[in-house]
Amino acid sequence: MKATTSENSIFPKGQQGSPDWFTGTVRVTPLLAKDKNNDFSIGNVVFEPGARTHWHTHPRGQVLLVMEGNGFYQEQGKPARSLKKGDVVNIPENTVHWHGASANSLLAHIAITNYKGSENVSWLKPVTDHEYSKVNE
Ligand code: MN
Repeated sequence: MKATTSENSIFPKGQQGSPDWFTGTVRVTPLLAKDKNNDFSIGNVVFEPGARTHWHTHPRGQVLLVMEGNGFYQEQGKPARSLKKGDVVNIPENTVHWHGASANSLLAHIAITNYKGSENVSWLKPVTDHEYSKVNE
């Protein structure tokens, strides 16, 4: 069954993510900031159907824990990987990729993002509607 409204009430509803970084409606709830012991941040991200990140990289990688719904993870030049509840994605460092919901389901994931110094992400171009429609075929 495809979820189109988030039933993930574990975490508070987040703020709308910036259109500089996301396409569509994406809500981000920061859960843990980098601190003296933890060289990573943790956030919960909920993508409405059709919503996705822009292409981006992480200097020391990222781990996604899929909590709800269906979506995709794609590295540049590779086929997209379908995502469902319970999936874990271990994203390598400096690898151009995007993640987001499928066209007809939301996707909720926790993101654990490692830092290199003060940086944990570098944003690139939006995923075009053409690129996005190809992975939804
Ligand atoms: Mn990422």
